[in-house]
Amino acid sequence: MLKKLIGESNNIVFFGGAGTSTESGIPDFRSVDGLYNQKYKFPPETILSNDFFYKNTEEFFKFYREKMIFTSAVPNDAHKKLVELEESGKLKVIITQNIDGLHQKAGSKNVIEIHGSIHRNTCIQCGKKYDLDYIINSFHIPKCECGGIIKPDVVLYGESLDYSNIERAINYIKNADMLIVAGTSLTVYPAASFIEYYKGNKLVLINKDKTSRDRYANYVINDYLGKVMNEV
Ligand code: ZN
Repeated sequence: MLKKLIGESNNIVFFGGAGTSTESGIPDFRSVDGLYNQKYKFPPETILSNDFFYKNTEEFFKFYREKMIFTSAVPNDAHKKLVELEESGKLKVIITQNIDGLHQKAGSKNVIEIHGSIHRNTCIQCGKKYDLDYIINSFHIPKCECGGIIKPDVVLYGESLDYSNIERAINYIKNADMLIVAGTSLTVYPAASFIEYYKGNKLVLINKDKTSRDRYANYVINDYLGKVMNEV
């Protein structure tokens, strides 16, 4: 059915959450077997907050380097299939909640990263840009040549999303003839509200587990995303 739906669609939007990357070995820090039962004194939501970043910068980077950066992760079958779909002209955009950059690593071109990316980092003092290697290779707190702290361009708790990104994402969804939502439980804002902008009748939810929004979808597939996409 999914194959048939994709076959007859020419303006597909893919919206993906953490589940898109789990098959690449990147754990969802919100899931039960994610980062909760770990050695840190604070829950991930606290450490990954704007407030914590400025007050406990060193502790933030310790956690960040250890739990948010996975340099050996490689694109999985889902990433690869999405590249094919984009090249065929059917897929217009990937909207992702992930910050790992795996879609681009796979070869996707049009990607909206609503939560930012670990690959972009900016000095909070002078605005100079730094790559991921610089963050990995610097000790403790990464510092700019001007002396300022370098902050990853990822949206932390307590920070607002980039409005222009959200607007672009919503525009794509409004005009889509097919919307594939995958690897997200649709509990995190703005994921839940995004699907309300879709006007068509080909909303497909692909998630390993059931979600609270399954009833809004025209089709629900509860299975591993990579496996499903590989069969398309
Ligand atoms: Zn600087």
